[in-house]
Amino acid sequence: MKNSADELRRGFHRYFEQHEHRSIPSSPLIPQADPTLLFTNAGMNQFKRVFLGEESRAYRRAVTVQKCLRAGGKHNDLENVGYTRRHHTFFEMLGNFSFGDYFKADAISFAWEFLTKSVGLDRSRLWVTIYREDDEADELWRKIGVSPSRIMRFGEKDNFWQMADTGPCGPCSEIHFDQGTAVPGDDTPNATGDRVIEIWNLVFMQYNRDAAGTLHPLPKPSIDTGMGLERLAAVAQGVYSNYDSDLFTPLLAAISRRAGIAYGGKEETDRSMRVIADHLRAVTFLMTDGVLPSNEGRGYVLRRIVRRAARHGRLLGIVEPFLHELTATVVENMGEAYPELKSAAGTVTEATRGEEERFIATLDQGLPILTDMVDKTRAAGRTVLTGVDVFKLYDTYGFPLDLIGEACREQGLTMDEEGFDHAIEEQRNRARKTGGFEQETARPGVTDLAGQVGATKFVGYDRLESDSVLL
Ligand code: ATP
Ligand code: MG
Ligand code: MG
Ligand code: MG
Repeated sequence: MKNSADELRRGFHRYFEQHEHRSIPSSPLIPQADPTLLFTNAGMNQFKRVFLGEESRAYRRAVTVQKCLRAGGKHNDLENVGYTRRHHTFFEMLGNFSFGDYFKADAISFAWEFLTKSVGLDRSRLWVTIYREDDEADELWRKIGVSPSRIMRFGEKDNFWQMADTGPCGPCSEIHFDQGTAVPGDDTPNATGDRVIEIWNLVFMQYNRDAAGTLHPLPKPSIDTGMGLERLAAVAQGVYSNYDSDLFTPLLAAISRRAGIAYGGKEETDRSMRVIADHLRAVTFLMTDGVLPSNEGRGYVLRRIVRRAARHGRLLGIVEPFLHELTATVVENMGEAYPELKSAAGTVTEATRGEEERFIATLDQGLPILTDMVDKTRAAGRTVLTGVDVFKLYDTYGFPLDLIGEACREQGLTMDEEGFDHAIEEQRNRARKTGGFEQETARPGVTDLAGQVGATKFVGYDRLESDSVLL
């Protein structure tokens, strides 16, 4: 298949190798040398110290296809998954890097040539965004043949990149692709909907920001770029959704067969299948890189992902464990590109099955309690399940909030979300007073039904927002 994901991966390496870039393997999803990071979320992570000038390498140009996960931490796309056609938890980021070697002009011409010549994208569909003040980039894009009407300027949020409050930073320039009127959404970049889709971000590291916020030009500016393989595959294959690219179709076919429901039918069942497909990849890759479900840190993010997928399985009518079988499809499709998947396949299947079974056990223990609470609420003539009840189900019985919400809805009740938040807050305060640990737990106070109480020492990342949408 022309522009298959395999071909795009190989083509990207080849193109940049031809331009003197060293091909470097993906680093694992667990950051190796950066304790501030929960998961690898960009190609540049493994080069952070090189960009900071703390480490030097034998090469000044590199090309990678990097495994990334954006669920938890600064970049969290978990809640987008299933809803947009372009966000995943796990995805592959194609990237080329210059460590004080080439700069803006080459970065722009490499990107343009790769997309329009190697991949053959229709240039009239492309948009370019630049930082508000970056006249230099504007000029370079025009010189290469981009019409001024297709260049848009944006502010810090979209087009200025920084590693941290101080240190290397600079403007970025992004390439977006207009999928046309068949796709709902606005017809310009960074607007709403999936129609104009961001595909490639070129970061021009040209300043060093000091503690006072002043920008000083770097003596040797650098380049860091990132392009989602799933998005590139979709636009290169002429499909409007990442999930219709060859990275996902075999997986969705397997899910659809297992559920006995066609993909492409109803929006709700389609969404559940997309969530399951996305999460199966995340689960398989995370476990392969050594993460196991637990009540804290990375393991807790993984647990949520497995359970969110299982939950969507139930929405499709699958109540028994099934995800573990489907991890084999991920290994089948991706094992060539990532051989580590093959050697870990058995462990992944077992660990997934174990977590699915624990989730079912949780539901089995908690459902009678939930039914009892609902009955009592109704018998008392109330229409709202109290925050205390919701918290008990959540905290003691490990119940997904949306399951509680749904059960309430079926019985004509609502749940007191404010009261729930209050209960969580109180519990957190109690924990702070008694435990003396400094960092937040991944999930405050969770008590495993199996009797192990999660040791609460890790994690410097925010509690995932609005649990209610998630599990
Ligand atoms: P978006 O605005 O679409 O959320 P982003 O600006 O957060 O993307 P960057 O941090 O610039 O993304 O990452 C570089 C590239 O990685 C993006 O241009 C996109 O192609 C890809 N990418 C980012 N997040 C995701 C994701 N959750 N799933 C798939 N691809 C992604
Ligand atoms: Mg984003
Ligand atoms: Mg963006
Ligand atoms: Mg971006």
